[in-house]
Amino acid sequence: MQQHIPFSTTYRPHIVKKLSNTFFDLVVVGGGITGAGIALDAASRGLKVALVEKGDFASGTSSKSTKLIHGGLRYLKQFNFVLVREVGKERAVVHKIAPHLVQPEKMLLPLLKNGHNGKLLTAAGLKMYDWLANVKSADKRKMLTPKQAVNLEPLLASKKLIGAGYYAEYITDDSRLTLENIKTAVKYGATALNYTKVTGFIEKNGKVCGVNVIDVLNEQNYSIKGHYVVNATGPWVDDLRITNQPNQLKQLHITKGVHLVVKHSKLPVQQPIYFDVNDGRMIFAIPRGDVTYIGTTDTNYVLSKDKIEVTKTDVAYLLNAVAQMFTNVKLTEEDVISCWAGLRPLIHKKGKKPSELSRKDEIFIAKNQLISIAGGKLTGYRKMAERVVNTVVKFHKKQHKSKFKECHTHQIPLVGNLFTSFTDVKLYADKIYNYLKADGFFKNDAWYLISHYGAQTEHILRYYKTQKLIDNKAKLIAAECEFCIKNEMVVTPLDFFIRRTGRMYFNIASVTQYAPVVVNVFTKYFSLTKAQQETMLNEIHQSVRDHTTFV
Ligand code: FAD
Repeated sequence: MQQHIPFSTTYRPHIVKKLSNTFFDLVVVGGGITGAGIALDAASRGLKVALVEKGDFASGTSSKSTKLIHGGLRYLKQFNFVLVREVGKERAVVHKIAPHLVQPEKMLLPLLKNGHNGKLLTAAGLKMYDWLANVKSADKRKMLTPKQAVNLEPLLASKKLIGAGYYAEYITDDSRLTLENIKTAVKYGATALNYTKVTGFIEKNGKVCGVNVIDVLNEQNYSIKGHYVVNATGPWVDDLRITNQPNQLKQLHITKGVHLVVKHSKLPVQQPIYFDVNDGRMIFAIPRGDVTYIGTTDTNYVLSKDKIEVTKTDVAYLLNAVAQMFTNVKLTEEDVISCWAGLRPLIHKKGKKPSELSRKDEIFIAKNQLISIAGGKLTGYRKMAERVVNTVVKFHKKQHKSKFKECHTHQIPLVGNLFTSFTDVKLYADKIYNYLKADGFFKNDAWYLISHYGAQTEHILRYYKTQKLIDNKAKLIAAECEFCIKNEMVVTPLDFFIRRTGRMYFNIASVTQYAPVVVNVFTKYFSLTKAQQETMLNEIHQSVRDHTTFV
C-alpha cells in the first residue's frame, strides 16, 4: 500500500496538488457508490486512481435510496433472473466486507385478498429468489398464515390478509457505504476529492486523457490527467457524455423516488414491510431507530437534478399507500418529519413506464474512449465496478502493455470493519455500550455509533474524552464531527448532518438542537469568523426547512 495524504479537508491543498501533478492510470468522475466502487476496485488492483465529485461524496442518488442491499424481488416479475441472481448473491458479499454497515433484516411481505401478489406465485417466487441468491437454509423464506403474520405485525388488518412471505434482506446506510468504499480506495493509494466539478475533457490524438475541473470551494480551475476517464455520474451521465461528444443521443431515463419519515410511534411497524398498493406498485415501510420511513414513488423526472423537490402529490401518494395497507393508522402531512428525493439513472427503453424499466447497468464507450457507466443498483455496485475496471485494464493491456491484478474486492474489508461476523459486531456494540452507559447513554446510542462507524467508534470515543462540554450528548456529537473532519473530508455541517450521520433524515430534531455545537467544531478547525458561523447556522436551518417542506 502507498503512503497517502490524510483524508481530511484540512489537507485539501495537498490533495489538489497531488491531483494536478500526477499522471493517473484512471480518473473517475462521480463520488456516488458507482464511482466509489470503481475507485476501490481499480486502486486495489494496482492502478493509480483519481476520483472527483462535484458536491459532497454520495450527494447524488447514493444518499437517497431506500437503503436496502436487496435482491430486488420485483425484478423476478420482470423475469430478470440474471439481475436477481447477481444482486442476490452480492448481498452476502457486501455484508461480509462491512457487517456493521450492511445488516441482515427480515422483510415481511403481506399478501392481500384482491392484492397483486398471489399466495402460490409468491411462495414460488420467494423460493426462486432464495435459490438464485444462494441463501443459507436458516435464512430461507417462510410462508406465514394470516394469524402468524398478524402475530409478527399487529398493525396488519387480519381481515384483508391471505398470508405473508417472510424472507431475508439487508439494510444499510447508502452514503456511509459509499464513503467507506472511498476511504478504503484511499487506503489503497487512490486520491479522492469532493467539491471538485469536471467541466470538460482533455483530448490527445482523438482520445480522452484527462479532465478539466473547477474547485467549487475557491473557483480555481486545474486539470487532472490520466490514461483513461470513467464517467460514473449517475443521473448526470448524459450531461457529461454530451459535453464529450455533442451529437451523442441521450440514453438515460431519469425517474424520481421519494421517501417520507414519520415518528415510529405514528407507524409502529415491528420490522421492514414490503406491500403492494392499488396501482400495482410496491412500497416499503422500514423502522429505523425512533422513526419509520416509507417509500418510494417512481415518476418520470425532467426538472433540475441539483434541487429535487418533494411535492404534495408525492406525499399524498405515499400516505394513501400507508392508509390502504394499515387501516388503523392515520397519517397526515403534518406527521411527516423529514423526507428525501432521489433520481434513478435508468437506461431508457421506448414505451416502458418508470417502474417497468430495467435496473440493469450498461457500459458505454465513446469513440474517444470516454467510458460511461449508467443504470444499476446500490446492491450491485461491486460487480458493476469489476466490469468497468475489467474494461479499463483491457485497454491498458492493449495500449500500454501494463498488467494489473484481478478483481478481489470481495475479500477487502471496508474501513471500519475489524469484525469476523455479525455476532462479533453485536459483541462490540455491547462493549461500547458498557463503556458509555455510565455517562447516561443507551444501547441505541452505542448501536448508532457501531452501525455508522464500525470499529472506528473507538477513535470517536477518544475525541469524546477530550471535549470540554458539559452535556454528554453534545460532547459525543462534537467528537463525531471532529472525527469526520479529520478522517472523512467533511467540508460543511450539512455533509456531516446529512451524509456522514443521516441525522437530517432519521433524527432531524437533533440537527436543530446540536447545530451550534457542530458549527463550534467547524470554527475550531477552520477559524471561522462570526459572519461565517452565522451563514453556516442559516444553511443548516434552511436545510431543515427543505427537508420538511413540500411544494
Ligand atoms: P450518484 O449517487 O448519483 O453519483 C453520481 C455522482 O456524480 C453524484 O454525486 C454527482 O454529484 C456526481 N457528478 C455529477 N456530475 C459531475 C461532474 N461534472 N463532476 C464531478 N462529479 C459529478 N438500489 C439498491 O440497491 N437498493 C435500494 O434500496 C435502492 N433504492 C433506491 C431508491 C430510490 C428512490 C432511488 C432513486 C434509487 C434506489 N436505488 C437502490 C438505486 C441506487 O441508489 C442507485 O443505483 C445508485 O445510488 C446510483 O449511484 P451512482 O453512483 O451511479 O449515482
